[in-house]
Amino acid sequence: MYCSPESAVALFVLGACIGSFFNVLIYRMPKGESVVSPGSRCPSCGTPIKWYHNIPVVSYLFLKGRCAYCGAKISPRYVLVEVLTAFALLALCAKFGLSKKLVWATLFLLPLIPAAFIDLDHYILPDTFTLGTLVWGVLSSFLGLSPVNPQDALIGLLLCGGFFLLVAVLSRGGMGLGDVKLAASFGANFGWKVGATALFVSVFMGASFGIALILLRKKGRKDKIPFGPFMILGAYICAFFGRELSRLYLGF
Ligand SMILES: [Zn+2]
Repeated sequence: MYCSPESAVALFVLGACIGSFFNVLIYRMPKGESVVSPGSRCPSCGTPIKWYHNIPVVSYLFLKGRCAYCGAKISPRYVLVEVLTAFALLALCAKFGLSKKLVWATLFLLPLIPAAFIDLDHYILPDTFTLGTLVWGVLSSFLGLSPVNPQDALIGLLLCGGFFLLVAVLSRGGMGLGDVKLAASFGANFGWKVGATALFVSVFMGASFGIALILLRKKGRKDKIPFGPFMILGAYICAFFGRELSRLYLGF
């Protein structure tokens, strides 16, 4: 889709603002704090952050990654989340154009960004994201927004969720219920073919990464590696190349 430089910049700014809100979710949701109030505070000195110190990306660069009051270092991850969200939104707009599918893809895939970072930090995938996107997958299929019809969404939900549930039971806790719910969500959103491909891609990436860490002796066999981020990366890959990958690797 053609996109003027002005609209690309506008989309990037919008994406960075959404990413800024995702940072609040990543930081506060696992603690059970309100994501609306109070406003942001410096994690070191507790000083409320003024709006002009809280402009996505720009403020971080302007303040050279430090708190304006106490000078404590601010994690570059805040900017990473903002930039990542901005690029994700741009990429989804480029892929789907201004279409019904863009509505489906944005509400399915963007919320998975904070989910990935919460899983990285705390080894949990909150239901808000897993069950939330699962319900959205079914709903959007009924509304005609998603690429699959309601029947395919429900079959996908049961097959993808059922498969990971089996793995979870057999691995006795090696895979969490959050992963199972997320797998069901992939099935509901993508249908079973692309959903299964997303799971296949994520297992492949997760296993490769795990083996590499063991070989490099960064982690032992018993260490936990969160699987959610790999699944979410797999979902992004399959939002763009799912059809091609499923034909290439799974033969359907
Ligand atoms: Zn401070």
